[in-house]
Amino acid sequence: TTQKQTHGFQAEVKQLLQLMIHSLYSNKEIFLRELVSNASDAADKLRFLALSDSSLYDNDGDLRVRISLDEAAKTIIISDNGIGMTRDEVISHLGTIAKSGTKEFFSQLSGEASKDSQLIGQFGVGFYSAFIVADKVTVRTRKAGAAADSAVEWESSGEGEYTLTPISKSSRGTDIILHLRDAETEFLGKWKVEGIVTKYSDHISIPVQMWEEGSAETEGEDGEKVAATEGHWKVVNKATALWMRDKSEVSETEYQEFYKHISHDWTEPLSWSHNKVEGNSNYTSLLYVPKKAPFDLWNREARHGLKLYVQRVFIMDDAEQFMPSYLRFIKGVLDSSDLPLNVSREILQDTKVTQSLRKGCTSRVLKMLEKMAKAEDQAEYQTFWNEFGQVIKEGPAEDFANKDQIAKLLRFASTNNDSDIQNVGLEAYVSRMKESQSDIYYLVGDSYEAVKHSPHLEVLRKKGIEVLLLSDRIDEWLMQHLTDFDGKKLRSVAKGGLDLSKLDDQATKQAQQETEQQFAAVAARFKVALGDQVKDVKVSHRLTDSPACIVTDEFDMSTQMMKLMESVGQ
Ligand code: ADP
Ligand code: MG
Repeated sequence: TTQKQTHGFQAEVKQLLQLMIHSLYSNKEIFLRELVSNASDAADKLRFLALSDSSLYDNDGDLRVRISLDEAAKTIIISDNGIGMTRDEVISHLGTIAKSGTKEFFSQLSGEASKDSQLIGQFGVGFYSAFIVADKVTVRTRKAGAAADSAVEWESSGEGEYTLTPISKSSRGTDIILHLRDAETEFLGKWKVEGIVTKYSDHISIPVQMWEEGSAETEGEDGEKVAATEGHWKVVNKATALWMRDKSEVSETEYQEFYKHISHDWTEPLSWSHNKVEGNSNYTSLLYVPKKAPFDLWNREARHGLKLYVQRVFIMDDAEQFMPSYLRFIKGVLDSSDLPLNVSREILQDTKVTQSLRKGCTSRVLKMLEKMAKAEDQAEYQTFWNEFGQVIKEGPAEDFANKDQIAKLLRFASTNNDSDIQNVGLEAYVSRMKESQSDIYYLVGDSYEAVKHSPHLEVLRKKGIEVLLLSDRIDEWLMQHLTDFDGKKLRSVAKGGLDLSKLDDQATKQAQQETEQQFAAVAARFKVALGDQVKDVKVSHRLTDSPACIVTDEFDMSTQMMKLMESVGQ
């Protein structure tokens, strides 16, 4: 094709663009952060490919992004010398949304601007945010290694369609040209733009440059000599890898902005942990707990994992080898000095280094969560638990070595509270146990209401014994792997062998024995009448108001588990 072609946006893109322009207007300056963030990603990708093919640099190895303002033309140009895009890549990256969770995202939109802007932030719109301030966007891009005349120009006014034109571009990389709306010309102000860059993009590890008129300290790049009087490209950000800086020198805001850059999430993170390890292992990790669960948390194919660097060189996104599955929501950066630069996903699978890094990162996250869980103010931990508790519950089954630490992080509803909020930890439960009580009691059911009103609880209520009330789908699975805590057994009150006699005095025991004898014949008749439908019929002391209840043997599958197996077709 040698001519201009018109393409329609995917329906979702159209919808998203409309929504974004209206919902994100009050936060419009973030378009610059998104475009600079993309330029930085493009530099990372090129640097990675150039590890095995340095000719891709084509004598221009100083990766940077430049922002130019043109008052007369009312344009901002964000120009990078990163990886660039082919025509096909332009179509798939700038014309469609290929993200997992797209369907869920659209189904949750309410039409209410403030709510939706939250959702959009979480979903991440990246490039399309350009249309908040621009009524036309032109992208000129040439893939690294491709010929000058095989570049492509993409242009759109953000409505239904975009055009593609083959062009010739003298240098590698991508220029994004924003034709500003008349009302947005404030973004042509040099101080304004520089301020936005320092605010949001200080942590970007490649230089972000802006043209400075007059007194030059350096020469222009690209070989061209710039007369000292004309001006020069000035670096306006810190331009060092944030995670390599000393903790004490990184501000809270910088940590937050860095999170947004690597996670493509617009919401502030809940917490983070930044560590440098030297000795047998040498690596730096910066790990974040998000505030909100992503849309695809439950999608098994969803991409997750850390951004992997080897000695400051970006290697890959979504390196999932460094986090167990129950911590798959953690975002962050891992920079190792022990892995080779040519490491691949395959090699990562089975190196000792990977295992030791995974162990280290897992332990950092568990410590960070433990600290949050122990904080006096529980609000933060509750936020965390409500979003990610269900995932953490996969932990005891998956990570035997850290079972005790994970157990301390768990939160449940309990008969101690009158609400379905999961906020009771096992340590708190243990601290409230009766002196004569040696086990931790729980009950699993289909819903909080069902367990709360279960006849199984009657006798424990009467005796004032706390019971954990479990009603999440995963709970039965969890309790199969969480058999004890702090030297105490966890016991289902719905299973056989519930012996509360230690908690009773002599007189009660006597009375119970008498009752058993008295009703032995009745129980036997029930057993004959019910035949094969039951294993046994026993006189029980666990009920106070209800006449009868169904229990399973201690080592049998619970009714809950049976339902679960049935539901997956077993
Ligand atoms: P995200 O950055 O979360 O992937 P964006 O909407 O910001 O989403 O960008 C979409 C895609 O477009 C990027 O993943 C990338 O493949 C491509 N892209 C955007 N900007 C650039 C750029 N400056 N250079 C190369 N590719 C880019
Ligand atoms: Mg982006």
